[in-house]
Amino acid sequence: MLADLHSHTHYSDGTLSPQALLARARERQVDWLAITDHDSTDALHLLRECPPAQETPRLIAGVELSTLWEGHEIHIVGLGFDIDHPGLQALLLRQQTLRRERMQAMDMNLQKAGHCGLMDYLNTLPCTSLSRNHVADFLIARGIVKSKDQAFKRFLGDRGRIASAAHWCSIGEAVDTLHAAGGLAVMAHPTRYRVGRMQFRRLLGEFAQSGGDGLEVSYSNLDPARMQHLATLCLEYGFWASTGSDFHHPGNQWMDVGRFRHLPGELAERAIWLHPGWPGCSL
Ligand code: AMP
Ligand code: MN
Ligand code: MN
Ligand code: MN
Repeated sequence: MLADLHSHTHYSDGTLSPQALLARARERQVDWLAITDHDSTDALHLLRECPPAQETPRLIAGVELSTLWEGHEIHIVGLGFDIDHPGLQALLLRQQTLRRERMQAMDMNLQKAGHCGLMDYLNTLPCTSLSRNHVADFLIARGIVKSKDQAFKRFLGDRGRIASAAHWCSIGEAVDTLHAAGGLAVMAHPTRYRVGRMQFRRLLGEFAQSGGDGLEVSYSNLDPARMQHLATLCLEYGFWASTGSDFHHPGNQWMDVGRFRHLPGELAERAIWLHPGWPGCSL
C-alpha cells in the first residue's frame, strides 16, 4: 500500500495544478493521495467539481494547518474531513487572512530594505494561501538571493531580516476543528521542528492530550534511524502512523510524490488508513 498523505498544489506553495499532481501520483503508483495545501481546500473543491476520469489514486480530503505552540510553528495535517464543514472553512479563511497580513508586513520590511513589488508579484499567482515559499521565489527571481536556503536563512527564517510572526491557531483548536469536520489530525514532519528532546516529548504529550490521532513516521529525506525512533514514539504515545512526501514541485527529486520508506513492520497494524475513522470512499 502506497499512501502519500501529504502533498501541495499551486493553491498553496506547490507548483502543480491539482490535475497535474494527480497524474504524477498515478504515474508513480500511489494508491491513496491526500492533497494537503497549507490552510486551503481549494484544490479539493476544484477536483470535486471536475472529477478525474481515472479511479486511481483514490483521493482523501486533506489540509495542512499552521499552528503556534510555545513560539514554534507546528504543522497539523487533517485527513478525511468534510470539505464543506462551516467551522473548518471559517478557520481556513482566518488563517488565509493572517497569511495575507503577514505578506503585507514582509512587503513593508522589504520596501525598507529597498526592494519593491512583492505584493504585485504575489497577486499574479494562482494560490489562495500565500506562503514564505512564494517570497523566496520572488527574492530569487529578483536576484536578491541565489537559493531557497539562502532566502530562508537571510530573510524569511525566525531570525531573518524580514521575518514576521503570524498568530496561527493553537494545536487544540486545529484538532477540535478537524474532529468537528469528521476528520483525523496528524502531526506533520515531527523531526523538522527546532525543539530540544524534552520539549519535543512535551509537544507529543500535549498533541496526544488534545486528541491528536496520528504522527507522520515516514516522509521524504528522513533517515532510517530517525524513522525508527519516530516509530517507537508513535507506539509509546498511542498514535496512528501516517506517511507522505510533502511534495511541492517536480524539480526536487528527493521530495517526489510517493518517495518515502514503507512503515516499519511493528507499525503494520497502526497505519492510519486502518483507523476506524478512515473514510470508506474517495473524496
Ligand atoms: P509558511 O507556510 O509561510 O510558514 O512557509 C513555510 C513553507 O516554506 C513550508 O511549508 C516549506 O514549504 C517552506 N520552507 C520552510 N523552511 C524552508 C527552508 N529552510 N528552505 C526551503 N523551504 C522552506
Ligand atoms: Mn510548504
Ligand atoms: Mn509543513
Ligand atoms: Mn507540507
